[in-house]
Amino acid sequence: MEKTAKITFCGGAGSVTGSNFILEADGKKILVDCGLTQGTKVADDINWDPFPYDSKTIDILFVTHAHVDHLGRVPKLISEGFQGKIYSTKPTKALALPMLEDTVGILSKNTDLGLDKIYTPENIKLALSLWQGFEYHEVLKITPLLEVSFLNAGHILGSAMIKFVYNGKKILFTGDLGNSPSMLLPDTDKVTDIDYLIIESVYGDRNHESRDDRRKFLEETIEDNYNRKGTLIIPTFSLERSQELLFELNALVENKRIPVMPIFLDSPLAIRLTEVFKQFKNYFNENAQKAMIHDKYLFDFPGLHSTLKSEESRLIGNVPNPKIVIAGSGMSTGGRIVHHERHYLPDANNTLLLTGYQAVGSPGRLIQEGLKTVRITGEDVVVRAHVVTISGYSGHKDSDGLLSFVEDMQETLKKVFVVMGEPKSEMFLAQKLRDNLGLEAYVPEQGSSVTLPC
Ligand SMILES: [Zn+2]
Repeated sequence: MEKTAKITFCGGAGSVTGSNFILEADGKKILVDCGLTQGTKVADDINWDPFPYDSKTIDILFVTHAHVDHLGRVPKLISEGFQGKIYSTKPTKALALPMLEDTVGILSKNTDLGLDKIYTPENIKLALSLWQGFEYHEVLKITPLLEVSFLNAGHILGSAMIKFVYNGKKILFTGDLGNSPSMLLPDTDKVTDIDYLIIESVYGDRNHESRDDRRKFLEETIEDNYNRKGTLIIPTFSLERSQELLFELNALVENKRIPVMPIFLDSPLAIRLTEVFKQFKNYFNENAQKAMIHDKYLFDFPGLHSTLKSEESRLIGNVPNPKIVIAGSGMSTGGRIVHHERHYLPDANNTLLLTGYQAVGSPGRLIQEGLKTVRITGEDVVVRAHVVTISGYSGHKDSDGLLSFVEDMQETLKKVFVVMGEPKSEMFLAQKLRDNLGLEAYVPEQGSSVTLPC
């Protein structure tokens, strides 16, 4: 009898977030990712609707990487009676705990959905007890006919594509694909031999701007701010972007490119995650490995203060200028950065440095667009500070990057399913794969299934 595998697109079809897929093959029911849908409100009702499957019947959950839109609903899976195994790379497992605990902090304010009963410390602990970490390229035999391995996605520390081989047919779930070359991570693995591909498409319909010379730009911005005796505030994402920034600042300070001054990492989550990065240095790229020959501590340098407690955070205001403050959230929608913005944006000697993507309508975006009065968590703030953007940095491959990634496996590909993008972006990439590479490319509907001959 002909063998088949079935894929169900439970989440992340037609949307960037909420990644959640089922693969059924050789009698096993396997989940790939169990992520939160993130919109305007984290506690979007959709996240707490029943799963379209019985959690108790899932044998294994594979987690591609530690962003909450890929693992944020694991506690819900546990609370619904999941008793299978959770598999990821080792760094992803280590990053999962701080990421999940931080999400508890955000969700706990919203009790009307009963999230406090789902997102409990016990459920997180139970999840971790079922969780096993693996190395990239280690081959796991699930059944005599079904094996799995993690390939390097180059997106964030530990990020993986998940490659299933069933009866000789190769099925690849990309997770998120990094915009290689990255500052810290090795490039996305080149993959040449895949039959069925499930690919992300966050930037499926557009290309990134050219990259600024980040280190030089950062150096100039810091020097300008130093000469004005101002405070430089940098809103940043806690995972990966904060560590990249520390890595850059470390190089600038250690090489005496900038004067020593107080630099505050004012984000409890970023501080915890940086500790995980320090444990997994062997996952860094060649450049970062080389830098470690001369400097064992890539994220520690003279002047750096990690302010874990909120009392310590409050005292930053008393520290004389010039100084630098790095804090979350990355788009100034919450977190400690908003206090600093209220305090520092009205003064023309200060600088706001934007390094990450700013969503339309977010305070970060409004400031970037030049608005002189911006509402930040309920308060109007006058912006007189210098506003500087370092452009072209993104954690995702752009449209051309995705195309050339797929081109490497063009010869063997039978079907491509474009997911994890806005519908417009998914459609655009699927069309591009059909037109440019002559591939059978589909944009699956949320909730739909496909059966693949294996
Ligand atoms: Zn991601």
